[in-house]
Amino acid sequence: MSRNVSNEALQRIRRFVEKYCAKSGTSTHPDKDVTEAVVLGLAYHIDTLGKPLCPCRFYPDKKEEARHRTWICACDDMQIYKYCHCLLFVDEQGRPITEYLPDDHEGRKTYGLVKDPTPDQGRALRNMAAEREKERKERSS
Ligand code: SF4
Repeated sequence: MSRNVSNEALQRIRRFVEKYCAKSGTSTHPDKDVTEAVVLGLAYHIDTLGKPLCPCRFYPDKKEEARHRTWICACDDMQIYKYCHCLLFVDEQGRPITEYLPDDHEGRKTYGLVKDPTPDQGRALRNMAAEREKERKERSS
């Protein structure tokens, strides 16, 4: 991914990733290029939208999507299920944690069951799963 991003946004995201890994008990991907691509995408969104909107999804209207908190990093799926679509926050082998996802979630279908190695950390919004699944159906996000 080749994008011009400000040094300020880049540093902000790098600090955030380091802190959020420690807080959630996750790791960055063993392939540094994976992490770098996501970091650059998040920094680009800070520069262009004012918020770190998830760079791994398609949005019909990015500005409209950025008004919701659903895909602002760390997104709802991360904070509820500890699942990162972008492979930014993963286990030490580079696998996204899928243990808490609903059975019909795309992450379960793609990666199977990946257990959480640090179940005592993360998932600050774990009690919001019902609301998230309602939104996923109603807003298709
Ligand atoms: S999937 Fe969620 S946690 Fe992962 S980079 Fe995107 S917004 Fe951040």
